[in-house]
Amino acid sequence: MDKHEGFMKALKCRECGKEYPLSATHVCEFDFGPLEVAYDYDRIKQSLTRAAIEARPHTMWRYRELLPIAGEPTVGTQVGYTPLVKADRLAKRLGIRELWVKNDAVNYPTLSFKDRVVSVALSRSKELGFKTVACASTGNLANSVAANAAAAGLKSYVFIPSDLELGKVVNSLVYGANVISIKGHYDEVNRLCAEIAGKFGWAFVNVNMRPYYAEGSKSLGYEVCEQLGWRTPQHTVVPMASGSLLTKIHKSYQEFAKLGLVSESNWHIHGAQATGCNPISAAEKAGLDFFKPVKPNTIAKSLAIGTPADGFYALRVMKETGGHADDVTDDEVRDGIRLLAECEGIFAETAGGVTVGVAKKLIASGKIPANDSAVLCITGNGLKTLEAMVGHVGQIREIRPSLREFEAMLKDEEKQPVTV
Ligand SMILES: *Cc1c(COP(=O)(O)O)cnc(C)c1O
Ligand SMILES: [Zn+2]
Repeated sequence: MDKHEGFMKALKCRECGKEYPLSATHVCEFDFGPLEVAYDYDRIKQSLTRAAIEARPHTMWRYRELLPIAGEPTVGTQVGYTPLVKADRLAKRLGIRELWVKNDAVNYPTLSFKDRVVSVALSRSKELGFKTVACASTGNLANSVAANAAAAGLKSYVFIPSDLELGKVVNSLVYGANVISIKGHYDEVNRLCAEIAGKFGWAFVNVNMRPYYAEGSKSLGYEVCEQLGWRTPQHTVVPMASGSLLTKIHKSYQEFAKLGLVSESNWHIHGAQATGCNPISAAEKAGLDFFKPVKPNTIAKSLAIGTPADGFYALRVMKETGGHADDVTDDEVRDGIRLLAECEGIFAETAGGVTVGVAKKLIASGKIPANDSAVLCITGNGLKTLEAMVGHVGQIREIRPSLREFEAMLKDEEKQPVTV
C-alpha cells in the first residue's frame, strides 16, 4: 500500500500473523483466521497524550489515532463519550464496595453501543469507495446501520431474524433502509449475508468490513479509563453476543497501558450471557477453551448468537485476565432491568438485564470480590424492547379526575400497600 493509511499498518491474521492490504476483507486465505488491524504504535505514542485527548471534543473520535480510518471521520462524528455513572444505590443492592455503569443506552444516534462500531465501519467504507452498506443484525446493529447510512447518504440493506422486537424493526424502517427479515435465527441470517457479501460489491459492516467495525468497540474501553481518571477498572462486566465487544475492551486496556496512558497492567474482564443462549458462558464454567454451538431461546434477542464468531477469543481473554462468565434466566433478566431502573434511573434493554443479573451472581459467588470496584457495560436502551417488560412492571391505577377519589385511593393503599 503506497496510499496514506493514517496510523494503520496492515490487516493481520490473528492466527499466523500474515499481513494483508487494508481492503474490505476479513479472513486469512491460509488458515481462515480472522484479520485484525495492526497499528504503528510508535507514531501513535507521539500524538496521543492525555493532554491531547482532553483538548478534543467529547466523542469517541477523541481517540482517533487508535481507530482504523485513514483520514478524518465522515460518519457518526458525534458518537460516544456516553456517561459513566457512579452507581452507589445499585452497589449496595449487589453487595459491592464500588460500582460504575457505562451507559451506552444513551449513545448517539440510535441508543446502543453499536453506533460506535458502525461509525467506524461506515467511515472506512466511504474511504474504500462503497456506495451500499449492509449488515447481519440481532437488532441494534440494523438500527445503527440504517440511521448512520441515511445521514451519510449511503444506500443500506439490513438483514434481521424474523422474530425481532417491534421497536427494533420500526427503528430500522423509519430511516428508509431496505429491511430484509429472514425466517431463521441469527446464525442463518449471518450465513446468508456471507454469501451475499461475496456476490454483491457491498460493504457488510460485520462481514467483509469486520476488522474495521470491531475496532470501534475499543472506544467504550478508552472512555471508561479516561472517565475513571486515567485508570483501568478492576472488574469489567460485558454482555456477549459474538464476544467481540469483550475482546475489544480488553484490547483497549492493553493499548492504553502500552501507550502509557494508564499505569495498571492487571484487570479482570467478565462475560455475561442469557441462559437461553449461553455457548460462551457454558464453556467458561466448564473450563473449556472451545464452545459448543446452541440454538437460541431467550428474551435477550440482541445477544442471541448461537455460534459466536469471537467466542474462542472471548474465552481466552477471560482466562488470561482471571475473569469469569455466567448466564441468567429470562426472569433474572427482567429482575436486572428493574433493579437498574429502580436504583439508578436507567432503563436498559434485555442485554442490560443480562449484565446486571450476571454481575449480581459473580459478586454473590465471590468471583468479583465484595471489596473491589467494577464497571457494568450497559449497551442498549429499554425503550426498544418494551415487550420484554410488559406485564412485569407493576400496575397503573386509574381514577376519575376527582380529588376525593385520589384521596380515597391513597387511604386504601395505606391499608394495603401496592408492590411495584
Ligand atoms: C451487539 C450487542 C452486544 C454484544 O455484541 P458482540 O457481538 O458480543 O460484540 C451487546 N449488547 C447489545 C445491546 C448489543 O446490541
Ligand atoms: Zn492466517
